[in-house]
Amino acid sequence: MVSSKWKLDRTIIDCGDGVLIGDNNLAMMAGPCSIESEEQINDTVESLLKNGVRIMRGGVYKPRTSPYSFRGLGMEGLKMFYQACNKNGIKIITEVMESAQIEEMMPYVDIFQVGARNAQNFNLLEALGEIDKPVLLKRGISGTIDELLYSAEYVFKSGNEKLILCERGIRTFESAYRNTLDLNAVPILKEKSHLPVVVDPSHGIGIRKHVIQMALASAAVGADGLLIETHKTPEKAATDGQQTLSFKEFDELMLKLKKLKEIF
Ligand code: PEP
Ligand code: MN
Repeated sequence: MVSSKWKLDRTIIDCGDGVLIGDNNLAMMAGPCSIESEEQINDTVESLLKNGVRIMRGGVYKPRTSPYSFRGLGMEGLKMFYQACNKNGIKIITEVMESAQIEEMMPYVDIFQVGARNAQNFNLLEALGEIDKPVLLKRGISGTIDELLYSAEYVFKSGNEKLILCERGIRTFESAYRNTLDLNAVPILKEKSHLPVVVDPSHGIGIRKHVIQMALASAAVGADGLLIETHKTPEKAATDGQQTLSFKEFDELMLKLKKLKEIF
């Protein structure tokens, strides 16, 4: 059902209030890896508004390799996140880690993110298939393109067709960077499926000074949107600071993306 053979026209995801993903404009989603405080949310909202970005990212449930690392502010953080975004017309994308969280999170979330570590959590995927909100599905840590499409199929066949696919880099033998951002996946996924395809170059390379270039490359290769980690002071971020753009760097990326649009 997610195949382009099954549906010939491309799917456009309506996140509400005129915020679309897959409509030929590059949908920008930016914000911190983790929600940390009210002040941090307000600073991020200001940076997004300045750049005309309508979707803020931020995790409140964080999948961490070590159980002793910061694991997010949970529902309290999500409610703070919602307060600040709702009054500024900004949509929220945040990760859901298990099906039991969906109901509680529902009123505060515009797009549910399924993280790379949960890409084949089939119970979670089926539970998200039963709701009427967009779901962004990340490619698994070592997931193939077909495995990502089968995961999408789990959500789709359960009734939710509001799906976005996300390339976020895969684990390979290469250790010079965090993940291998597989930009080949963009044209291949867009050929195989009618669903919008977005790229997360932050996790894709994992090195701040190269994120802008890889974001531009993602846009050039036809991504429908970008998921970018940003923070006022990346070096002080609770998680993923090493790959997070400062607000100034994010402004620079937005300017370069505008120039790129003039070429393409
Ligand atoms: C994230 O977006 O912060 C995240 C944890 O992503 P991934 O699931 O791709 O590692
Ligand atoms: Mn992160």
